[in-house]
Amino acid sequence: MGMTPSAFIAHCQSLLGEQYVLLDETDKAPYLRDWRNRYQGKALAILLPKTTEHVAEIVKACNQAKVSIVPQGGNTSMCGAATPNDSGQQVVINLKRMQSIRGLDISNQTVVVEAGCILQTLQETARAQGFLFPLSLGAQGSCQIGGNLATNAGGTNVLRYGNARELCLGLEVVTAQGEIMHGLRSLRKDNTGFDLRDLYIGSEGCLGIITAAVLKLFPLPVAQWTALVAVPDIPSTIQLLNLFQKRTAALLTGFEMMSKDSLDLTAKQFPHMKNPLANDPAYTVLVELSDHESEEHARMLMETVLESAFESGLASDAVIANNLSQAQSFWTMREHITMAQAQEGANLKHDISLPISSLHAFIEETDRVLRQKFDGVRIINFGHLGDGNLHYNVAPPIGDDPQHFNRTHEKAIHDIVYAHVEKHHGSISAEHGIGQLKLPDLEAHRGSIAHQLMRSVKHALDPNNIMNPGKVLS
Ligand SMILES: Cc1cc2nc3c(=O)[nH]c(=O)nc-3n(C[C@H](O)[C@H](O)[C@H](O)COP(=O)(O)OP(=O)(O)OC[C@H]3O[C@@H](n4cnc5c(N)ncnc54)[C@H](O)[C@@H]3O)c2cc1C
Repeated sequence: MGMTPSAFIAHCQSLLGEQYVLLDETDKAPYLRDWRNRYQGKALAILLPKTTEHVAEIVKACNQAKVSIVPQGGNTSMCGAATPNDSGQQVVINLKRMQSIRGLDISNQTVVVEAGCILQTLQETARAQGFLFPLSLGAQGSCQIGGNLATNAGGTNVLRYGNARELCLGLEVVTAQGEIMHGLRSLRKDNTGFDLRDLYIGSEGCLGIITAAVLKLFPLPVAQWTALVAVPDIPSTIQLLNLFQKRTAALLTGFEMMSKDSLDLTAKQFPHMKNPLANDPAYTVLVELSDHESEEHARMLMETVLESAFESGLASDAVIANNLSQAQSFWTMREHITMAQAQEGANLKHDISLPISSLHAFIEETDRVLRQKFDGVRIINFGHLGDGNLHYNVAPPIGDDPQHFNRTHEKAIHDIVYAHVEKHHGSISAEHGIGQLKLPDLEAHRGSIAHQLMRSVKHALDPNNIMNPGKVLS
């Protein structure tokens, strides 16, 4: 039986309470624009469920009323994945009221958490119990666990602990037809058929709604040492990474690369965040070691590896953070590159990954072609180099209008970057996902069989195509 839009809204109001069905345009506004200000959507309503049962009931009603759904967490997507289209016929289901931490199992080193829990809240709760929840990214004060899982978020600790996928043991999901999949299993070994959990992780809200998850916790390191290292070029950066990997193995928890241009931009927009290394090095690497033995052990290890790096000419200067707040300031500088770019004006972002052995050739070739074709173009290159993940962003020459530059050259620049990514067997989306931004690029760069299989999965799990249509698959 169908349901009219007004009957649908009345049903949601009686289920959630009127104040949790936002209909007023001013109330809806914050949920309808993406973080990068690229997309502006409209929505029939914003729905704020409190329980998994609420979500299931809403999804059933959406199927009856033929209303499609945009699941939303902290709305920090970099690719417009959580923004509705402009039809005004979709609903946004934002999970922010489902934020409880249902339980922490000390012996099993796991936590059960609802999808709307803010990432930073989970980190702090785990820390208070003597555990580390290692997922860490610039948006952690506002992104939610559900969004992290739906995007298989990466961030700064992937090198040691893996992406969100590796941190998740079980999921509770409301399927596209409104059934509840009770998959909150906290097992490290569980080979019982197809891995449905892995299917929902990274599916960007296109297959179902994640309502809760079992996540892994880790012992809190007793010491962390962070250093900034001046490196002359990309080959030296990679050799430095390999040196740290060889000498410190699993103690290496962060290896971030920042080009001179990216730090110049950060210092321009946030003058108190100047690179403490002298002489503006071509590349600055942020290295973090996490130790379970002692402060002295970690510090000694950091110093001896850096000494070897100086002796072999891989590094010309380094600053080891003296205390937690200095270490934090290094990370803040790294995390503010994205913010600095946003303040500078629109730019063309490429969140790409490559085999580490191909990074140098990729950067050299792509920089050369872009600079030949677009005189004065600025390449803001930084990223989680330890994972082969570059944020290879292209900004217009100083003085050019960013909107005009992007409108005119966006496609040509994406084509150049992605052609080089393909040549070097990389990925056009390392961690931010596809959303609506990269839909055409995915279609152009993913093999046709892989694409067909993705379509078959979507059709099988969401036959009415109500889950986040127009994202990931057209
Ligand atoms: C400053 C900044 C820094 C960032 N740094 C990183 C980084 O280092 N690494 C990284 O990977 N990403 C990064 N991001 C991107 C973004 O923060 C992450 O992708 C984050 O995981 C998204 O979480 P969210 O709660 O904001 O999700 P949203 O933006 O709300 O949603 C993202 C996608 O997930 C879906 N979704 C959300 N919640 C659910 C749910 N409960 N069930 C099903 N689907 C759902 C949405 O439909 C959408 O497709 C950054 C973003 C910003 C703004």
